[in-house]
Amino acid sequence: MDIFENYVKAGKIASEVREYARTQDHAGRTLSDICNDIEQEIFKKGGEPAFPVNVSLNDIAAHYTAVPNDPITVKNSDVLKIDVGVHIDGYIADTAVTVSYDAKYQNLIDIAQKALDEAISIARSNTRVSDIGRIIEKTITKYGCKPIQNLSGHSLERYTIHAGKSIPNIWTIGHSFNLSVNNVYAIEPFVTTKDGQGIVYEGRVRNIYGLASRKRTKDQKLDEFLEYLWNKFKTLPFALRWIVKEYEEKEALLFLETLIKKKNVHAYPILVEGANRIVVQAEHTIIPQESNTITITK
Ligand code: MN
Ligand code: MN
Repeated sequence: MDIFENYVKAGKIASEVREYARTQDHAGRTLSDICNDIEQEIFKKGGEPAFPVNVSLNDIAAHYTAVPNDPITVKNSDVLKIDVGVHIDGYIADTAVTVSYDAKYQNLIDIAQKALDEAISIARSNTRVSDIGRIIEKTITKYGCKPIQNLSGHSLERYTIHAGKSIPNIWTIGHSFNLSVNNVYAIEPFVTTKDGQGIVYEGRVRNIYGLASRKRTKDQKLDEFLEYLWNKFKTLPFALRWIVKEYEEKEALLFLETLIKKKNVHAYPILVEGANRIVVQAEHTIIPQESNTITITK
C-alpha cells in the first residue's frame, strides 16, 4: 500500500471510531471502560491506536487517559473530550470530538466545530498558518468565547504525532509558515468560556508515556523492558493499560518511574484550564492539495 492509501485508511477508521464514540451514551460508564471499548473498535476495524484514547473531562483540556481499572465515572453534567488516534503502518490520523449530556454545553461544542470547519475551508497548499490561527480565533471570539492560546494543531509524520510544526489557534505576530501540498496536519481548536483564562497548565497526573531514548541502563530487567516498549510502541505514546497484560502493574509502574528519572521515558502531564473552566475540542487531520484540502478524518 502506498503512503496516501495508508493515510486514507487510518483516517476512515479514525472517523468511524470517533462517530462510534460520539453517538454512545457514556454517562455512568467508567473512563477505563470507555477507553478500552474505543481502542477495541480501532483494532476490530484493522487499525492500531496511535496513542491511548484521550478522555479528558471538563477543565482538563487534553492528555488524560484511563489508568488500569480507572474508576472515574462520566456524569450527566460532564463535558467529555474524546481524542482518537489511529495508525496504519505508522501513518497516523488524529481526530477528536466533545460530548456532553447537558444541553447547556452544546453551544460551546458547536463553536469548536465551527472554528475547525472555518479553518479547514481556507486550508490548502500555501495557506499561511497565521491565517488559520486568525480564523479560528475570530470564529471563537465572535461567539463570545475564548480559544486556548497555548494549545495548537501540528504536523504529523510517520510514527510521529507532533512532527515539529504548530498550527496556532490564535492570531500570532511574527513567525509563520505555509502549508505544503501532501504534508499532513492536525487542526484542533480548543475553546473555553469567556471567564476562562484561555491558557492551560500542566497538572500532576501523567498517564500517557512515550519512549524518549533507547540508551541502555546497565540493568538487565530495565533494558528488557525498554526493548519491549520499543518493539511494541516505537516512538508512539502508550498507557499503563497497554502494558499490564505482559507486566504486573506494580512492576511496570516502578520500571516506568525509573526510566522517567533516567530520561529514557517521557510522561505527558494532563493540561488543565487556568481558571478551571470547561474546555471543548474538535479536531481533524488534513492533507492540503493545490486548490482544496483532503480531510482524511471526515
Ligand atoms: Mn488528537
Ligand atoms: Mn492532535
